[in-house]
Amino acid sequence: MSYQLQLQFFGAAQTVTGSKTLLTYDGKKYLIDCGLFQGPKEIRQKNWEDSPELKNLSAIVLTHAHIDHSGYLPRMSSLGYTGPVYSTVGTYDLCKIMLIDAAYLQEEDARFANQKKYSSNSPALPLYTAKDAEKILQQFHSVPFYEWKQLAPNLSFRFLRAGHILGSAVLQISFMSPAGMKILTFTGDLGNSRSFILRDPDPVIESDFLVCESTYGDRVQPREDIFQQVSQIVSKVIGRGGTLIVPAFSVGRTQELLYIMSRLIRDGKIPSVPIYLDSPMAQTATDIYRKHAEELKSDIQDGYLQAHLTGVVFREIRDSDQSMLLCMSTEPKIVISAAGMLTGGRVLHHLKAKLPDEKSGVLFVGYQGVGTKGLLLKSGWKDIRIHQQKVSVEAEIFSIEQLSAHADADDLLKWVGAMKKRPGLTFINHGEKNASETLGYLFRTELEMKCIIAEENKVYTLE
Ligand SMILES: [Zn+2]
Repeated sequence: MSYQLQLQFFGAAQTVTGSKTLLTYDGKKYLIDCGLFQGPKEIRQKNWEDSPELKNLSAIVLTHAHIDHSGYLPRMSSLGYTGPVYSTVGTYDLCKIMLIDAAYLQEEDARFANQKKYSSNSPALPLYTAKDAEKILQQFHSVPFYEWKQLAPNLSFRFLRAGHILGSAVLQISFMSPAGMKILTFTGDLGNSRSFILRDPDPVIESDFLVCESTYGDRVQPREDIFQQVSQIVSKVIGRGGTLIVPAFSVGRTQELLYIMSRLIRDGKIPSVPIYLDSPMAQTATDIYRKHAEELKSDIQDGYLQAHLTGVVFREIRDSDQSMLLCMSTEPKIVISAAGMLTGGRVLHHLKAKLPDEKSGVLFVGYQGVGTKGLLLKSGWKDIRIHQQKVSVEAEIFSIEQLSAHADADDLLKWVGAMKKRPGLTFINHGEKNASETLGYLFRTELEMKCIIAEENKVYTLE
């Protein structure tokens, strides 16, 4: 028997969050990624629209642990999903901390809304709770890289390395179609080969269909010497006695930054000031990176990474009282703290304290989504609101683009261009509209590929 495979995008279509792609085959439904919508309220509101199409799933397959790919899982659990969740072991380990944290934030938000009587529903309810997160974590099954795993007769999948964050995978689905066996490849979030820590993305030799992310589909990241840039910024801010605040995502960029800074200190390129890692989640994530040596670049030996990520210069701030004291301190220092897009977390307290200080600086090292405080600051906004208070921005704002964990337009063209057999049809997802359309244009003109910009809710049949 052969069947047609259908795709339907329930998020990350002309936007970057909420990745959920429904795959239908032989009357059964599977979900590729189960991400949360993040950003401004009208986008987050979409997390409450429980699509009837996402009921009665046979399995969920995760490409990686980032919340915009995994953070809707506990909601699925609260809606009654009891089936398997397949991921790599690295993704599972990260999900154990990230989903519990996401649940805690949901509960916190609901509590806050009830206190301030914000919510139009009273009482405000969390989207899900830590119990839901714990429940879905019991449903995880780890699948090793490269091994084919059967979902149903004539339908299998395997993970290849995506080089984006620890455990991240490109997903390949093999299925029997009326025209024979076909391969559908999902990039998930594709990394680039410029990580100092993670192994490079695997090449894909051939694919009949492709779903390709386009976060940086309209940009080429600079390839300048990042060690030199970081050392210049640190020296400038520390030289005038300020604090350098680095808002960083707990997973991925934080570990790259720790590595870069530890090398700069070792080589005497930056003054030996304290570096505070003020994010319990980033600390745990760093421990998970150390645990999975098989995912790291071969020149980073276990002991070496250990030494570099836990050097004596790093001070881990575990409790929130210590964090508050750190906010008030005026000693020159570097503070790495989450959340990376300033959507919450301890970094907001550091910013409230240091943004009005012209000696201090903020270093952005990652993508800032539309509708985030991070984007406002990065765009030069001089007054921002933190915890309902207006804060004037006197600190210097820096940004470094090349620490991104995503492939840029040039990387994507090279990665797809290297396939011996290129996809006959490509869906472009996971990017703002402009980025997706630009990447589509580049694929069409440079590689003569047939591309569709994924539209939310529309059903696509692969033929
Ligand atoms: Zn990601």
